Amino acid sequence: MSSYIVATSGLTQSEGVHLAYLVAAVLFILGLKQLSSPKGARKGNTTAAVGMIIALITGLIGLHPSSGRVILMVIGVVVGLLVGTLSARKVKMTAMPQMVAAFNGVGGGAAALVSVEEYMRLVAHSSQGVVFVITVVFSVVVGSISFAGSVIAFTKLQELMTGRPVTYPGQQAVNGIVVVAILAIGVYLVGFGTSVALVVVLLAIALFLGVAFVLPIGGADMPVVISMLNAFTGLAVAATGFVLGNTVLIVGGTLVGASGTLLTKMMGDSMGRSLGNVLFAAVGKAAPGGGAAAGSVEGRSVRSGTPDDIGVMLAYSQKVIIVPGYGLAVAQAQHVAKELASALEKRGVDVAYAIHPVAGRMPGHMNVLLAEADVPYEQLKEMDEINDQFKLADAVLIVGANDVVNPSARSDSSSPIFGMPILNADEAKNIIFMKRSMRPGFAGVDNELMFDPKTIMLFGDAKDSLTKLVASVKAA
Ligand code: NDP
Repeated sequence: MSSYIVATSGLTQSEGVHLAYLVAAVLFILGLKQLSSPKGARKGNTTAAVGMIIALITGLIGLHPSSGRVILMVIGVVVGLLVGTLSARKVKMTAMPQMVAAFNGVGGGAAALVSVEEYMRLVAHSSQGVVFVITVVFSVVVGSISFAGSVIAFTKLQELMTGRPVTYPGQQAVNGIVVVAILAIGVYLVGFGTSVALVVVLLAIALFLGVAFVLPIGGADMPVVISMLNAFTGLAVAATGFVLGNTVLIVGGTLVGASGTLLTKMMGDSMGRSLGNVLFAAVGKAAPGGGAAAGSVEGRSVRSGTPDDIGVMLAYSQKVIIVPGYGLAVAQAQHVAKELASALEKRGVDVAYAIHPVAGRMPGHMNVLLAEADVPYEQLKEMDEINDQFKLADAVLIVGANDVVNPSARSDSSSPIFGMPILNADEAKNIIFMKRSMRPGFAGVDNELMFDPKTIMLFGDAKDSLTKLVASVKAA
């Protein structure tokens, strides 16, 4: 890109590089803007990807590599492209958070390693300014925390280890000592001396802190943590941009840092939790002598129904709200959910989908699934928009959702999800709860809504149950 600009415009090589980086940065910003609504999301992805390709090619050309290094770089690019493409194509939607954690982690790790390498290269030849050393220290610490924290987040979400908070006596004190050690080494490197060995020690301690910091956080809080680590990676990359004098890294990193920070705040708000509570409250820790912070469902009876009866009830309703959740994604029931909605609409029923901001396992999970099934965007209603409508609905159809409709979030201050804003599904005249069993959702909390006198349980895989409901509505 830069050489094309140079050849055709008479700009110097450096001006060409900066111009190409500017184009890439503008494309990143446009991409982000488009990504902020489901309608423009696909386009936004492509726009930002084009920006990334321009930045990548320009960066590689700008390095003036020796022939030996070109081979290494090409191998790196090809391996990265293959791993990225294959994993993105193969990953299941339900495993997307793990993939985000993995990609995010390697970004943070790369930023830290590049800063260490640059420190070794430059400090060996001359003393460097304070700003250079501060940015190296920042990038090494934040990038390493992001890498190690993301590895633990990945391991928890992939169920390679327990998803529950891992705590031990004196944990906060140990973490405090590690933070003090990091600060002490950082201050020494910035103000008093040059030491490659200490930078490597800093990297190792920061890796430990990343592990120690994410271990006590429960699985239900992982989305917020991943989003925060994503912001960390952005900031580490921006700092590495300063170290290398690379503007596109600074801009790209800052955009990731800023959007990750905003997303973290928005997700925390959606779960009704402060960041401090997410990070330090060890929510979801196994209660002594028992299961998670859940009440017991054993020995209590629920009312269950048949697809035929429920189909007839839906067919004669005026207003039906569908609440999709993680189980819809597991069952891949989005297409048949749309089929049911269409069958109801044909009979004059008003149908809308209520989208909770943390339904599923990643931000926007339900929007992506339902868009895949060509559900019109206008029917997807955000929580604030639809919460007043539930009391007008003849029926709410909860399809594989659980935590996002759990009334204990409102009323039970001992519940781990207390304070999370929920969808007012309990206000509908009839509640159809579709799931396979009485098991709780992601947060491990039992749901009183299953015992509500207005609730009818429809047990089974969401896709099977919805298919039967479609047949029943059509026959009614
Ligand atoms: P939940 O995890 O609370 O509940 C999902 C329900 O789906 C389960 O109770 C399960 O019950 C049911 N289910 C699973 N498979 C099927 C199937 N094949 N057919 C029918 N039902 C099925 O999901 P929600 O969407 O309500 O809540 C999301 C939770 O995940 C929140 O706690 C949120 O904090 C957390 N989270 C959110 C992320 C995000 O960014 N969106 C990321 C990570 C976590 P059963 O086993 O009985 O079928």
